[in-house]
Amino acid sequence: MLIGGPLAPPVASSADTDAAIPTLERESIVFAGSRGYPPFEWQPPDGEPRGFLIDLEDALAEQAGITARHQQMEWRLALYALEHGEVDVVPMFISEERRRRFRFTDPFYYVTHAIYGHPQGPTAGEVIDLTGHSVAVVGNGYAAERLRALDRPIDRMEMEDIAAALRAVDTGKADFALLATHTTRRLIADMGLMIDQVSPPIWPRAYAFGVNKDQPELFDWLQYHLQVSHANGGYYRIYSDWEDQLEWHRQTLSDVLRNYSWLIAPILTMLVLISLWSGLLQRRVETRTAALRRALRRRRAAERRLAHAAMHHPQTGLPNRANFLRRVTQIRKQQPHGDLTVVGIRLNRIEDVVLTFGDTVATELLQAFGDRLAEYGFEAIGYLGSGSFAVASQHPVDPEHVVDVITSPVQLEEMEIDPQLSLGLVNDRGDDPPEELLRKARTAVSAATECRRCWQAYHPGLEPDQHAVLLLRDYWHHGTTDMLAYLQPQFDPITGRVTGAEALVRWQHPQHGMLLPGVFIPILEKSGVIYRVTQWMIDEAVQLAKQFRVVGHPCPISVNIAADDILEHDLIGMIEATLNRHQGRADDLRLEITETGLITEPDRVRQALERLRQIGVECAVDDFGTGYSSLSYLSDFPVSTVKIDRSFVGKMGSHQRQHTIVRATVQLAHELGLRVVAEGAEDWDTVDTLRAIGCEVVQGFVYARPMPVAEFTAYLERQLQES
Ligand code: C2E
Ligand code: MG
Ligand code: MG
Repeated sequence: MLIGGPLAPPVASSADTDAAIPTLERESIVFAGSRGYPPFEWQPPDGEPRGFLIDLEDALAEQAGITARHQQMEWRLALYALEHGEVDVVPMFISEERRRRFRFTDPFYYVTHAIYGHPQGPTAGEVIDLTGHSVAVVGNGYAAERLRALDRPIDRMEMEDIAAALRAVDTGKADFALLATHTTRRLIADMGLMIDQVSPPIWPRAYAFGVNKDQPELFDWLQYHLQVSHANGGYYRIYSDWEDQLEWHRQTLSDVLRNYSWLIAPILTMLVLISLWSGLLQRRVETRTAALRRALRRRRAAERRLAHAAMHHPQTGLPNRANFLRRVTQIRKQQPHGDLTVVGIRLNRIEDVVLTFGDTVATELLQAFGDRLAEYGFEAIGYLGSGSFAVASQHPVDPEHVVDVITSPVQLEEMEIDPQLSLGLVNDRGDDPPEELLRKARTAVSAATECRRCWQAYHPGLEPDQHAVLLLRDYWHHGTTDMLAYLQPQFDPITGRVTGAEALVRWQHPQHGMLLPGVFIPILEKSGVIYRVTQWMIDEAVQLAKQFRVVGHPCPISVNIAADDILEHDLIGMIEATLNRHQGRADDLRLEITETGLITEPDRVRQALERLRQIGVECAVDDFGTGYSSLSYLSDFPVSTVKIDRSFVGKMGSHQRQHTIVRATVQLAHELGLRVVAEGAEDWDTVDTLRAIGCEVVQGFVYARPMPVAEFTAYLERQLQES
């Protein structure tokens, strides 16, 4: 519904026109109006007044040959100025109150008001609904007049102009605004406000020029020229120029295209340029993105390498200690109180592999062994360095089975190596943190290694420190006083006669009872104090052997020595002195040294053994097979005998591989001119086999266990009598 619109005043007849053409003895007329009342009239901040009224006023003045001057001001001042004769004409709505103050020409337009408010604010369909609300109006404006006359409790907020009234609604200072529709609709759009017209148009009012009542000539003149303007089409030309803005409506797309057609070409050009530029930019972005992606990939790869390095052993690439602990922690999180067995595994004498075959072979051996552990199905595996591994399983672990499976020879590219292992196990149900479990497992491994056992389950008695410290303290106090030399006979498997004996130390400890050498010898060796034991054992051995010889039962006695005895002490001088002291003979005494003892400092050990040979004391390589040295390498040392370790001999009956090793060793030893002693024979089948393959001497529980001297003496006599 179009409420506003031009209003054609009654056109004066030509007769009237001819009769009295009003004249005005002036060169200009001052029109006044509001500064902010678009599209009727307004004054941009730095520009000339503009608007439909301005054009109309100019046209009327021009038509009469005079000048129109315009003064834009605050609306209430404009009315004041007109009333006091400071300006000549002010266009405005006609109201009763204004009629009393001014004279009005015929109306030339009419407009409406409406109520404006927030879309989500209170509703007001008609003026009466404004009761109790704050309402913004233009100060001294028509709406202000009407509200004042309404005499209702309406909080009337008189603002400077329409824009100010709209801002009051927008900022929430006023609930509504009551404003002239034409200007308001346009300003809402221009200002981008979220304000709606909430009532239908109200108060259709005629719009006309108001003239000061004291200027009748001016009134007549204006009335006349307005009528002429209507008659000659001047008014309608001006109206047409402003029609779009006066009859404001929301623009459609076609309006926009029509109105802005002049902009389309530059916009299209810009779009083309933008698309060219954006193509360039896109290529740049793509290049840069690709570079960033590459950098990111490199960085991720570096991070992966770092993460891998942090979790793997550098040489072997096997999961390391941290990796193992992390995995155990994960298992513990999943099953906080489930069974967990941590097994420490030491690949014994890996240093010997390094010394003998080099680093590459040692690394290959470790990797192959790591693969073997993985194949066994352990749930966590870690390589701890120096030949030590740790594995964990949530299932019960049978150590014998593990040993059997993982000790088969490792086939490397150029050779086959028999891994020599010690295992330590600890079971847990969520009591210990992973680090503690690992420590306990390693403690058990050390105990197994020291006692030369294949495996050892953890128990608190194995704790090395307190145990070692206490034993050492006792050793310092009592020396070898409580120690005993036990003797284990050695036999010729063909004749069954005793050919000698091995002296094995025992410690009759006042608190702990009888201690086996595996419990204290490694501690004394590690602490560098074994020499006193060696001295004492040699002394005992020389005395006993001499006694046996003197009574007609010759029985050379073998004593175990440590590398330390040769390297740190005058072993040969001591032996010579002992032989002299007891009138012993060099062939009463034999020495046993382990493979590790031999290769610790091979040159110095070789020299010492050479001197022993010169004085007539024979030496044997003890525990052969537990290290990695080849027999031909060991035969290079001045030794007369090789003692095959009990771990091979004891399993000969049931394990074909062990049987083969022993047979080949005996054969090779003979070829190298060495005598062979097999230790650890526990049944007669083994003895039969050893005899059959040509082993010269057999030592083992099947014949006799190590026994105290008195017992041995009786045993020896009995043997001799029986034979
Ligand atoms: P070893 O020199 O190899 O001694 C042989 C070990 O095998 C002895 O253990 C002996 O009891 C054990 N044995 C002998 N026959 C059998 C058998 O048929 N079955 C089994 N299962 N074992 C058998 P022992 O007396 O416990 O000695 C352990 C190790 O302690 C010795 O191994 C030796 O390395 C060391 N040792 C013993 N006495 C001395 C000593 O006076 N000085 C030094 N430095 N080490 C010693
Ligand atoms: Mg021995
Ligand atoms: Mg041995």
